[in-house]
Amino acid sequence: MKLSEIYKNKKTPVFSFEVFPPRGENIEKKVENLFLELAEMNKQKPALISVTYGAGGSNKNTSLEIVKELKNHLKQPVMPHFTCVCSSREYIENYISEIEELGITNILALRGDEPQDIDVCYSDFKSALELIEYLRKHSELEFAVAAYPEKHPEAKTLEDDINVLYKKQCHGAKVAYTQVFFDNENFYKFFDKCGTAGIEIPIIPGIMPIASFKQLKKIVELSGTKIERGVFEYFEKYENSKEDTIKAGIEFASKQAQKLLEFGAYGIHFYTLNKAKSSTEVIKNIT
Ligand code: FAD
Repeated sequence: MKLSEIYKNKKTPVFSFEVFPPRGENIEKKVENLFLELAEMNKQKPALISVTYGAGGSNKNTSLEIVKELKNHLKQPVMPHFTCVCSSREYIENYISEIEELGITNILALRGDEPQDIDVCYSDFKSALELIEYLRKHSELEFAVAAYPEKHPEAKTLEDDINVLYKKQCHGAKVAYTQVFFDNENFYKFFDKCGTAGIEIPIIPGIMPIASFKQLKKIVELSGTKIERGVFEYFEKYENSKEDTIKAGIEFASKQAQKLLEFGAYGIHFYTLNKAKSSTEVIKNIT
């Protein structure tokens, strides 16, 4: 099903899960485990499973392998991510053809960040806008884009970022998924500002049920996601118990997701970190 159909109306919340291709040693075993987790996720009948892509194509093969398996064997609706940074136009053309030949209809189109471990990085397309302009003209794919309720780190102001999102909509983006956030107030303000700027496509909040305090610290560090002291302390209390942290993470994310749906969000995009339990528990709690 295409994105425009998936998000056609707000009758029932649309849930999607994001997974990433495993890295490091024992990849085969890790991929096998991921498919077990995906089978659990599938029980919640997600509208989409999105599969991340390593900027510059570092994990292209594993990413494609997961996409193919999801599409052909598990029969799950899959949306590959794709980044254009450090990629030539020819590479992009080939990749997009490959995706379309698999029968994929939706893609999450991103610029990505230049990988630190790459010697030479030449990008034919300098931004997600240039990539989606290409997709619109040269493919049948429908595309989603990224949005940043707490501002993209490179943008001078949130308004500049919203302007870019508006342009993405004008170029044919069907839906936007947000960067992870923990403070709903920032999403509400962003959503209202987007409305004022003329953005009408669904903006789907991305939430991540926390499963470890260490992980929470890392996310805040890497993505620049804002987190209130109170939330930080809430999870810090459970620092020494994995089980209690998972429970607290589910409780926190359930409240967060419930409020977002009450606010009027079309659905929730779950950053699953390749684990089914927390995100599926959240869905059970709020439906
Ligand atoms: P862009 O939309 O191009 O924006 C990048 C910056 O440039 C922003 O500050 C924007 O405001 C500015 N900008 C863009 N165009 C213009 C313009 N015309 N004029 C002025 N300013 C402009 N990364 C991965 O490597 N792989 C993934 O799979 C992946 N998945 C993601 C999924 C989601 C839902 C999100 C939110 C992010 C994901 N990312 C992923 C991270 C993303 O690649 C980075 O955040 C990257 O820095 C920006 O990508 P973008 O598509 O938002 O870029």
